[in-house]
Amino acid sequence: PVVTRFAPSPTGYLHIGGARTALFNWLYARGRGGTFLLRIEDTDRTRSTPEATQAILDGLAWLGLDHDGEAISQFARADRHAEVARQLLAEGKAYKCFATQDEIQAYRDAARAEGRSTLYQSPWRDADPSTHPDAPYVIRIKAPRDGSTVIRDEVQGDVTIRNDQLDDMVLLRSDGTPVYMLAVAVDDHDMGVTHVIRGDDHLNNAARQMMIYEAMGWPLPVYAHIPLIHGPDGKKLSKRHGALGVEEYRAMGYPAAGMRNYLARLGWSHGDDEFFTDEQAKEWFDLGGIGKSPARFDFKKLENLCGQHIAASDDAALLHEWQDFLAATGQRPLGDDKTPLVLAALPHLKERAKTFPELIDKAAFVLNDRPIVPDEKSAGNLDSVSRGILKELTSHLQNVRWERDEVEAVAMQFAENHDMKFGKLAGPLRAALAGRSATPSVFDMFMVLGQEESLARLTDAAS
Ligand code: GLU
Repeated sequence: PVVTRFAPSPTGYLHIGGARTALFNWLYARGRGGTFLLRIEDTDRTRSTPEATQAILDGLAWLGLDHDGEAISQFARADRHAEVARQLLAEGKAYKCFATQDEIQAYRDAARAEGRSTLYQSPWRDADPSTHPDAPYVIRIKAPRDGSTVIRDEVQGDVTIRNDQLDDMVLLRSDGTPVYMLAVAVDDHDMGVTHVIRGDDHLNNAARQMMIYEAMGWPLPVYAHIPLIHGPDGKKLSKRHGALGVEEYRAMGYPAAGMRNYLARLGWSHGDDEFFTDEQAKEWFDLGGIGKSPARFDFKKLENLCGQHIAASDDAALLHEWQDFLAATGQRPLGDDKTPLVLAALPHLKERAKTFPELIDKAAFVLNDRPIVPDEKSAGNLDSVSRGILKELTSHLQNVRWERDEVEAVAMQFAENHDMKFGKLAGPLRAALAGRSATPSVFDMFMVLGQEESLARLTDAAS
């Protein structure tokens, strides 16, 4: 059974790269009936904050990346990490090193002067325990000195690291606290993680973590180190490029499904498929589809996919997410008086909106109450001639059966009688019904608003 994990350090918001790593792990597990775990890597006590942990949890929840079981605190497992260091010590796979900082520095200076490797080689590695002083010590692993370590990576291929480039790393500091590398290896093993999918900035760490696995006789997980995300210009992702926290995308009103779709495409592909559902993504996602070169963040593509997801959304679900967007951005929810109208309008709104603010803008005709105050642009459509025409049209619509075809027929006939194209009428009608010029079609608005409200708005505008 597949077990994946997302292991963020709670030192800031959940950024877009982290969200993508979480998504890949989630997709891999969910598509295989596996388990997706969350581990908060909070061992750096000065930089980890509860606010950052909360921001990560909120971001994952918004993106719908649900994890199995409780989130695990790495710091809370420090005793277990130390226990593994002591076990390796007892088995002779690690040793106590009493070297002081000064001694290590002196070793390095001498090595540099002689042109040798500056990786520290402790004299305590093979020292007789009876010669141990009663002094503070760290526990170091006995790293292999010959040969090489091969990381069999599903994305990068076989990555070979010569063992003479790896030192006897410290497992337990002199104050008894475990180092990060030990914590990760022990946690991944204890959590039963079968697949480690993470950013390729951790590739070199894999060799060190593997050393601990091997010393403990644990089976290795599968590794997949994914290239980082770059900006559209191929440079490292910056704020300007979209290196924002996911909560900022949420606040900009991108729908979560569109965000998931876009993040999945950021560095992974399935043939030429751009737009897909969660179900498809879960079924299709595999490590072989992850690209070897950095993906480029592209706002246009994100918006395009978000637009397609809004258009494809079920109306009730979209309304639910709309309310969620209002809440997340501190806006008043849609009241019970508005929700039926919004639901009726949604089929006409969702075709061309890429974000919730765009949907809200297009919904102005149902969100605003009479009297409709036209914005600057549409006010120009309500000169005295137009007002006269609107007044006349209103009287023609008074006794029409309020069905789209009938209303449309009357309006078209009216335009023809006045020797004008219907397009000429649309501007004043939009101004009267919505107070703006970018709206759903006039007849869609008529139908959603109903006869009484529509004619009242026309009368308001005409007077
Ligand atoms: N905590 C690390 C990070 O946020 C991830 C470690 C891992 O995935 O092994 O970059």
